[in-house]
Amino acid sequence: MNLHIQKRVLVTGGSGFLGSHLCEKLLLEGCSVICLDNFFSSSKSNIHHLLTNPNFEVIRHDVTFPIYIEVDEIYNLACPASPIHYQLDPVQTTKTSVHGAINMLGLAKRLKARIFQASTSEVYGDPLCHPQKETYWGNVNPIGSRSCYDEGKRCAETLFFDYNRQHNLSIKVVRIFNTYGPRMHPNDGRVVSNFIVQALSNKPITIYGDGTQSRSFCYIDDLTSAFIKFMATPAKLTGPMNLGNPVEFTIMELAEKIIKLIGSKSELVFEQLPQDDPTQRRPDISLAKKSLDWVPAISLDEGLEKTISYFDHFLSESSELNND
Ligand code: NAD
Ligand code: UDP
Repeated sequence: MNLHIQKRVLVTGGSGFLGSHLCEKLLLEGCSVICLDNFFSSSKSNIHHLLTNPNFEVIRHDVTFPIYIEVDEIYNLACPASPIHYQLDPVQTTKTSVHGAINMLGLAKRLKARIFQASTSEVYGDPLCHPQKETYWGNVNPIGSRSCYDEGKRCAETLFFDYNRQHNLSIKVVRIFNTYGPRMHPNDGRVVSNFIVQALSNKPITIYGDGTQSRSFCYIDDLTSAFIKFMATPAKLTGPMNLGNPVEFTIMELAEKIIKLIGSKSELVFEQLPQDDPTQRRPDISLAKKSLDWVPAISLDEGLEKTISYFDHFLSESSELNND
């Protein structure tokens, strides 16, 4: 008789960049995984390799509508994350964060299941404190073109903490800083994928503004390890918890690094800075270090090499398909 009881885990947004890596890691940990996604900003190819795994199921569903299923844990990642995607249908973006949170929290309440929320460093807006600690309340424009995402995520955090206070629900809220790696969408406009695709095809690298704005880039495997560690901590540790790599680079430094690693002939072109583009961003990860015994292990150079090799392969496959 098999006495091993398998944990059933729901991952919303499970076909996305972060979600597909998380599903993969949870399967490796022996969980039974249900990936829920409406494929708004991802391709099924991200989870194609998991479809033959008997412990993996996919449900096409929009989190803005309720769903009744039985699981032990929920990771709520559903939401387009790149400015190009979340600005395509801003009303739907807010609904995804807010109605999606209400539906998933309702599900967790009925099941008495622990629930994880993928929040974002965008809750700090264009931060006036540097680096950003979890105690900082942020500097967010409530009516700009990024607000559907930033305010949607802020409201979702409010809902998570109210369900925790009002219904004693076990919550885990993380604020994710810029993350990169294989399976990023090649056309979603995020800086790492844009620069790598441009450099691999020797096209101009598009620097928005003068390139002095900064970001801190975390490799995907470091991030998903922290998700799973955090989910296993005692209920009293709710977050919000910053997760990211605290090593900060300017966008110009990132461009130069990618050109050098690829040996690209791309030149730099300067374009207009998008509205409300934060000038600096670096997480203070003291809380994650102390409570999860976690620090990112993969340097930017190492992570970029893996990501470049993914896109190199991806682009040559796409061009072969186009030539067929
Ligand atoms: P992604 O766009 O690759 O993945 C999001 C997934 O959610 C996609 O598969 C998409 O189809 C799905 N989705 C969108 N709306 C949905 C809906 N209404 N119902 C069901 N599924 C829906 O983005 P990602 O980078 O993997 O981000 C995942 C989560 O992490 C998001 O919640 C995002 O806000 C958060 N996050 C990501 C980063 C990052 O650097 N990648 C940083 C901060 C926060
Ligand atoms: N960026 C850029 N060129 C690009 C894409 C982005 O200079 O082709 C800049 C963008 O203006 C921002 C930074 O890179 O300052 C990070 O952008 P991304 O969209 O990846 O993430 P976010 O702004 O959400 O942190």
